[in-house]
Parts: sequence; structure tokens; C-alpha cells
Amino acid sequence: MKKSHYDAVIVGGGLAGLSAAAYLAHSGKKVAVIERGKLGGRAMTIKLKGFQFNFGAHAIYGRDQSYLTKIEQELGLKLYWSDFTQLKAKYDLGDEVSVVPTNIGGLLQTKLLRGMDKFRFAYHIMFTMLGFEKGDPDVSIKEWLDGKKVSPAVKEMMLNLASTNFFTGEPERIPSDVFFGYYRRLFKTNIPVSYIQGGWRSLIEEFIKIIESNGGEIITKTRANGVTTEKDKVTEVRTKKTIYTADDFVFAIPPEELKELFSETELEKELEDYTDYEPTYVMFYDVGLKKRIDSQYTYIFDKDRQIFITDISYYDMEAAPPGGQLLQAVAYLKKEEVNNPDAYTDIKDKIEEFYDKHFEGWRKQLIVPRVSKTAVVQAIKWTMKQRGLPTSFPQYSNAHFAGDWCQGAGQLSELSFSSAYNSCQRILKKETSKQVG
Ligand SMILES: Cc1cc2nc3c(=O)[nH]c(=O)nc-3n(C[C@H](O)[C@H](O)[C@H](O)COP(=O)(O)OP(=O)(O)OC[C@H]3O[C@@H](n4cnc5c(N)ncnc54)[C@H](O)[C@@H]3O)c2cc1C
Repeated sequence: MKKSHYDAVIVGGGLAGLSAAAYLAHSGKKVAVIERGKLGGRAMTIKLKGFQFNFGAHAIYGRDQSYLTKIEQELGLKLYWSDFTQLKAKYDLGDEVSVVPTNIGGLLQTKLLRGMDKFRFAYHIMFTMLGFEKGDPDVSIKEWLDGKKVSPAVKEMMLNLASTNFFTGEPERIPSDVFFGYYRRLFKTNIPVSYIQGGWRSLIEEFIKIIESNGGEIITKTRANGVTTEKDKVTEVRTKKTIYTADDFVFAIPPEELKELFSETELEKELEDYTDYEPTYVMFYDVGLKKRIDSQYTYIFDKDRQIFITDISYYDMEAAPPGGQLLQAVAYLKKEEVNNPDAYTDIKDKIEEFYDKHFEGWRKQLIVPRVSKTAVVQAIKWTMKQRGLPTSFPQYSNAHFAGDWCQGAGQLSELSFSSAYNSCQRILKKETSKQVG
């Protein structure tokens, strides 16, 4: 069997794997990326009839506070951003719509909170921003809010916000420390949401350019099917035809794949705790329209049905052909709705009604619909029973872990970027301490 040696081998070519590979390649490491399918993972862009559908949307939350921005600046990525217009983000309250309060400006305008409740909510925002509100890992956000006797309207507001940011229909299950940790960062942002022009494709192309221009190799359609370990090190990753040896490894593949890869190693048992993870599931229903239907908002959230629609092509000029429009509807799924055909039909009908209400005439303009029954928006759902996978384990000092199932900052892709970034820092610091020593 063929053997190839690298400074670092990265298993998995999703956002986590590619960002780690680009970061290490840019820092002078000889890298190889092994991906079992096509690059991008869940951040794939698919072109259909002139529309660019991103499998997962590409909204970046709190861009100015994000790890993606750190990576963008340190690697000199050429990305073009379009920032979300706060006043165009609305809650559908049935008979009227109201501003989503992601900052103090939005708070003053929202109709969801009235009178003293606005001040109470502002008080919680201030306390969270200043770091006084830390939560408790043993207490869910619902228990925390109940314990503090927060007013019903403020409680509802906080849970609605959490639904939107954590992409979940069950925000009450989020551990309170995770909740406040997330908002501590988000409330400080000046850019609550941004979109990358050209979608994930633009970012992935930038990563590929950096990897390849620094002599890195990208091997697609190749599954890693085993590792070899020696004492406290991983020494090889095996594929069908090649054995890859390296000084360091970044494993950017989900826990169930990791468990298989690490079977009969010191990590097998440890990884078991993470393989019965309950992911965060959504259903999405994107529509490519021939002609734009103008609306006063670009994001509308129905808090009762837990569905939102984003006018993706308003922010990403490349998403639709000239004059056309790409809308994305996402419905948060509860546990009992996942892989449930009756729930699927019901939610699909509700999404169509929601489109009818806010984008009247969309059916006549429809060129291409794209519906997923179930999609994993984040490989972990934050509940009291689930914590992210650590990015390193004491058993193997040169094995690093990254992905949106790992411990890190933010939610969704930010978990992938932050865990990848932290893994790279550990690898590069080791090098510096070797040189100094
Ligand atoms: C509908 C939807 C909407 C979303 N909206 C947003 C959003 O608005 N904002 C946001 O930030 N994020 C969003 N996301 C989430 C975002 O897409 C993910 O967080 C991100 O793509 C995860 O990247 P990852 O690299 O961590 O994992 P993955 O994308 O799962 O990558 C893992 C990779 O490993 C490969 N692999 C697995 N096993 C092996 C093996 N044995 N050998 C080799 N390769 C292997 C897989 O093929 C895959 O490419 C959304 C996702 C969905 C589905």
C-alpha cells in the first residue's frame, strides 16, 4: 500500500476541515485533506436553473466578534459581505409584524414588549453584556428564567431569540450557561447577521486556493476508514489505497464516524458518550422565483409555527439570476417531528401558507423548489444532556478535533470555525515551543 507523509493530515472537507487545512497550510505546514465525498460537507452550494442553493444557509452571526473574521483577516481571504438590515427583520404576530430586537435600537421599536418589559429585557441584555449573567451548567434556561421570576413577556422574548439563534423549536432545553455565553458575545456585535456574496462556495474556493498555493493536497471521494496509534500518538490514517502518516491530525468528521475510525483504540470508549448525540434538525423549503416579489422585510419569523423565511437573494446578489429571487424557509423541528411523514406534510403546508402570506404570488413565479424533509443544521443540539466534543483528549497528544459538534464559540458554522482555529493554534504552539526548547 502507498504511504505518504505530511506535517498535518485533515480528515473531513467540510467548513471545519477546510478552514483548519487552509490555516495550517498558510502557516507553512504541508497538509493533506481527505474527504469521502465532495468538498463543503453541509455547506455545499448547488446550482439549479441559474439559482445557487446553499444546502445550509450562509448567514454569519455576529461577524465582527467571530472566529471566521479572525481566519479571514489572518489568511487574507477575499470575501465580500452583505450585512443584514435590522429594520427589515420582523416577527409575524398574526395581525401585525414587529421588529426583531437584536440590539437596543430594535428593542425600542419592538411591539412584542411593552412598558416596563422593555426595561426588564434591556436590563437582562446589559447584565449579559457585562458578563454578570453567567447561568449555571446544571440549570436549563427555562429553569433559570422560572427561578428568577422573569416576567412572562420577557421570558417569551428571550426564548424566541434563542429559537432563532440556536435553530431550535425547544429553546427551553438550552443549558443556561451556554445561553448566556452565546448572548454575551452576540449582544456586543455591531453586525448581528451577514451573508457572504456567492455563498459558501466563495469561502470554500478561497480555502482551496490557500491550501493548493501552499503545496497542500486535497483528496476527495476517499474515505478514511481507520487509524493506527502508538503510545500517546496517532501515527496513521488509513484509506482503501493509501496510508497517510503525519505529525498532527485534525479530525473534522462527525462523532459517529469518529467512533468507527477510533474503534479498538484508547478513545473508543470515550467517544461512545458523544455518539448518541441528538442533532438539531430543521426542514428547509427554498424557492427560486422568476421575478422578484418585493416585501418590506427580508427576514420574517413566525414564532408560533417556528418557521422563518429569508430573502437570500436580497443579500447575496449571486444567488438568483437577474430579476429573479431566491427565498429560503426554515422550520425548526421538534424531536417527535423528525422523520415523521405526517409532521412533514403538515409543516410543508404551513410553510407554503407562510409564503402565501408574505410573498403573495410566489407560486406563479416558481421555477425551482428545493425541499428537504430533514436536515442537520447543527450536529449537536444544546440540551442539559449534551455537551460539545472536546477538541483534544489526553490519550493522543497529536489528535485534534473540529466541527459543529465540538466545544467552541457561537453556534452553527461558528462552532466549526472556532474549534478548527483552536486546534490549529495548539498544533502551531507545539511547533513554537519545540523551536524555543
Ligand atoms: C438547512 C441548514 C441551514 C443552515 N444555516 C446556517 C446558517 O445560516 N449559518 C451558519 O453558520 N450555519 C448554518 N448551517 C450549518 C452549517 O452548514 C454547518 O455548521 C457547517 O457546514 C458544518 O461544517 P463541519 O465541517 O463542521 O461539518 P460537515 O459539513 O458535516 O463536514 C464533515 C465532512 O466530513 C466528511 N466525512 C465524514 N466522514 C468521513 C470519513 N470517514 N472520511 C473522510 N471524510 C469524511 C463529510 O463528507 C463532510 O464533508 C446550516 C445547515 C443547514 C443544513
